Amino acid sequence: MVFLGLDAAGTPVFAADLSRSHGEVDGSGPQLGWNARWVGLRAVAALLPAGEAAILGYARAITIWHHRSRFCGSCGAPTESREGGHMRQCLDSRCNAQTYPRTDPAVIMRVTDGDSILLHRQPAWAPGQWSVLAGYVEPGETLEEAVAREVREETGIEVADVTYAGSQPWPFPSSVMLAFTARAAGGVLTPDPHELEDARWFSRRQVLTEFDDRHRAPASGLFLPPAGSISRRLVEDWLGR
Ligand SMILES: [Zn+2]
Repeated sequence: MVFLGLDAAGTPVFAADLSRSHGEVDGSGPQLGWNARWVGLRAVAALLPAGEAAILGYARAITIWHHRSRFCGSCGAPTESREGGHMRQCLDSRCNAQTYPRTDPAVIMRVTDGDSILLHRQPAWAPGQWSVLAGYVEPGETLEEAVAREVREETGIEVADVTYAGSQPWPFPSSVMLAFTARAAGGVLTPDPHELEDARWFSRRQVLTEFDDRHRAPASGLFLPPAGSISRRLVEDWLGR
């Protein structure tokens, strides 16, 4: 059990991990004895009230951290939950290391060139979904360098004017998405086949007329990531919607 804190009404909120696995697959929890079912948070987060989604994201990130931190990263000895579940203590008295939950920074960026936006596809996505580029920050990098490197590595495009544009927790399992806008400043579009399925420039008019949420199911045309995601917001802001 992890104590998450007090909600707005002062009620203590706890997280209890009932799962045997930590996959993204629905139905991975224990059998439910009433008319209810397990669903993946990732699939429903955008449909929940923001406060509930935030609590569930927090609970998910911290329970996965416990699951993955059962042994000390310094000496390999077992660890034990302390401080209401916000620290794990190494049980080897010679080591005594304390481990805290971490958050890994990832960058997500909207690259534009005049009236065009650079979108890409991942092989794992539903056919027809396109989105802005994203990637993890590497050790020793500034966020702006991470944006420029990811865009260059994945598409061959050089960027300038990298500007912060907001953030979104991404507890899948433990990231925060840091959003940026950037301007294309050179290079030739050459999508990296190991990283992307495809990358293309789309005009504003194309995005406005060809992309539609109704294409999502069944996948029958072009569509953007779900409403509520920061990737969607980056595109919507550019469209002026
Ligand atoms: Zn240790």
